[in-house]
Amino acid sequence: MPELPDVEGFRRRAEAVVGGTVETARVFDARLLADGLTANALDAALAGHRLTETRRHGKHLFLPLSDNGVLVLHFGMSGALATVAGNTPLPPHTRVAVDCADRPALAVISRRLLGGVAVAASAEAWIDAHGLGPDPLDAAFDRATFKARLGGRRGQVKAALMDQGLAAGIGNIFADEILFRAGVHPRCRADRLDDAALDRLYDAVRAALEAAIEAGAGQDDAFPATMPAGSLLPHRVEGGTCPVCGTPLTTLKAAGRTAWLCPRCQPAP
Ligand SMILES: [Zn+2]
Repeated sequence: MPELPDVEGFRRRAEAVVGGTVETARVFDARLLADGLTANALDAALAGHRLTETRRHGKHLFLPLSDNGVLVLHFGMSGALATVAGNTPLPPHTRVAVDCADRPALAVISRRLLGGVAVAASAEAWIDAHGLGPDPLDAAFDRATFKARLGGRRGQVKAALMDQGLAAGIGNIFADEILFRAGVHPRCRADRLDDAALDRLYDAVRAALEAAIEAGAGQDDAFPATMPAGSLLPHRVEGGTCPVCGTPLTTLKAAGRTAWLCPRCQPAP
């Protein structure tokens, strides 16, 4: 579930621990540790090091450590990040907690034990090793490159948008939002989109993600009701209607997931 805007919300929360020196990393369920990492190794990698900044790329959150690589957090289907002050109990389903001196604790929450906690040499090394494409909110997310790469895909456009190698951070929910804003049906073949549709998609990627961050994704429990008028996301429920034309929304399977769409605003190919 957490996609780029949600992880950006988590990143902003994690700012509260920046500058703190890690005392311990507590692992309550080692199944959340990725790449063979053990609880002892995680604690050894973090303890005594200062968390110097927060950085997000796509759906990944990186917390660089003074002189010792980077803590990598990925939130899978049901993960979240909370900061917990003082003696407040940790939230339910906290799998890993990072305690810093003079800072709130960082609680990595995962109900379904997907996602992962890892350590890497650097954010760049992790991004390269995992073949992640540019983050759509970075300057490196270039219009011409995106259009050429998307327009060169022979599969369905929704699957291409969710491919983390094309652009990192878009999942099922924001792919639907982007396609809705661009007026593109999720089963259109990417290589049959015309230039105007590719332009609308590029614009919609940034607009949808930025609107969701602005609306408090990952931070505000009222999200997605806080999305601006005309957004698909709050209507993406049983009985929902198109916020533009009022047509009942429909669902279908695309890219192995349930897609929500307006059959009038997003005509079938
Ligand atoms: Zn519509």
